[in-house]
Amino acid sequence: MVKKVQHTTKHIFVTGGVVSSLGKGLTAASVALLLQKRGYRVKMQKMDPYLNVDPGTMSPYQHGEVYVTVDGAETDLDLGHYERFTGIDCTRSSNFTTGRIYSTVIARERKGEYLGKTVQVIPHITDEIKTAIRSLDGDDVDIVITEIGGTVGDIESLPFLEAIRQFRQEIGRQNGLFLHVTLVPYIKAAGEMKTKPSQQSVSILRTIGIIPDILVCRCERPMGAEHKEKLALFCNVDKSLVIEETDVANTIYEVPVELAKQDLDVYIMELLNMHVNRLDMSDWKEMLNNYINPCNGDVEIAVVGKYISLRDSYKSIYESLTHAGIANKARVKVRLVEAEELEKNGADQMLKGVSGLLVPGGFGQRGIEGKILAIQYARENKIPFFGICLGMQCAVMEFARNVCGMTGANSSEFDDKTRYPVISLMEEQKKVTDMGGTMRLGSYECTLKSGTKSHAAYGKDEISERHRHRYEFTNDFRAQLQKKGMIFAGIAKGLDLVEIVEIKDHPWFVGCQFHPEFQSTPLHAHPLFTGFVAASMKG
Ligand code: GLN
Repeated sequence: MVKKVQHTTKHIFVTGGVVSSLGKGLTAASVALLLQKRGYRVKMQKMDPYLNVDPGTMSPYQHGEVYVTVDGAETDLDLGHYERFTGIDCTRSSNFTTGRIYSTVIARERKGEYLGKTVQVIPHITDEIKTAIRSLDGDDVDIVITEIGGTVGDIESLPFLEAIRQFRQEIGRQNGLFLHVTLVPYIKAAGEMKTKPSQQSVSILRTIGIIPDILVCRCERPMGAEHKEKLALFCNVDKSLVIEETDVANTIYEVPVELAKQDLDVYIMELLNMHVNRLDMSDWKEMLNNYINPCNGDVEIAVVGKYISLRDSYKSIYESLTHAGIANKARVKVRLVEAEELEKNGADQMLKGVSGLLVPGGFGQRGIEGKILAIQYARENKIPFFGICLGMQCAVMEFARNVCGMTGANSSEFDDKTRYPVISLMEEQKKVTDMGGTMRLGSYECTLKSGTKSHAAYGKDEISERHRHRYEFTNDFRAQLQKKGMIFAGIAKGLDLVEIVEIKDHPWFVGCQFHPEFQSTPLHAHPLFTGFVAASMKG
């Protein structure tokens, strides 16, 4: 008999088959929530098989939003799902890319640490991947869920799949399982559901030595028993472990409830030889009920951005608005406005009838003037306004130009010759030459000024929020803007940086340099989002 290494942390490996965008991250997050609600401590991580060291240098059009962790890692947006579902804080160890793994191995090779050996994908890259997986093990966790990005069959995924195959072999069946998320398409012309693509993707997995323990089948309509039986037979999976994940009716937050109805969490605990504790989903179900039956009606919020055509670009913003709707028992409807369109057509036409305006973060000149026009419209018409990062910076530019008479006031990111660089590069950024991972990143503390909208929203003096920026409010202009009614409602603790601006005589006008959207969850909506939506509902 093979002797297994002593191992206490359980591992679940999530792979994806047939196509991308199946919602593997959502499935992984839903499983995590269910196990948490059974009393277990869960950690999560995502392995991304691309060569960028992290997604920080990628365009949102390539990758969607870049999610920032408390400890300042720029990561995949699936980590946002992980945090929103489970409320746990992910860290740098929650996201590894091929680029990051290779950089570590190559740096070690340069130091001569491989002692003359030929450095190879197996075992050196796979060992590094296993170290990355093991980095989440410990006394503070019962189960680690590792999602492998990409689709089985991609060349890029192979080292990760080989690493999880080895890892499970080392820890043994009772300590690790493979959950494969796959697609069971419905072919309209034939009026039939097809299991073949899933069979083929499982057969690819089998050729590399992985036999999935559980199949989660994404499908547009419910699967019949015959399809489950067929998949069970061809894929060598127990019939009860062929789980269906049909498109949910209202919100992604229904997914865990649907999976629990099929006892997915119970099967996982049994396979991993864990005690099946009672499942308590009461707070989650109450949240869902508030979402599905909002007793305070609808509220329409415009989001004016530069990457509007791709929904994933502002994923956490949209989710946070939904959470704030739940907290206010209202349904937030989002009007998506492309900033350049607004510049062409005017704010009157594009924003007519909205109850609130949100301008999210971003980089680069395109769309800036449209955002500024939108903010002017919200300021002058007393429409609640929430500016985040670049949105806050645009609010400062707008105020400087149109209230303080500083014609051409700008951020030095867009115009380094302006007489009024009201936003400028932070001192510490001036010597930065590399673009990857060098912004002001992660959580910093901030002190709030009493009597402000922000202080009222948070209900406390000190907060901690996540950042991702290079530019800041230029302190030389503070006195002039303050004289005209700008309020500096939040200042970075220990640093003299403006973190929140507000304006006088407006129902709700708040701009923050940080990204509150990374700390909002459906059970605990972020106070600034909740305050913003509440103010918008009064309009
Ligand atoms: N481009 C701006 C900066 O670097 C804003 C960044 C952002 O919105 N995340 O400061």
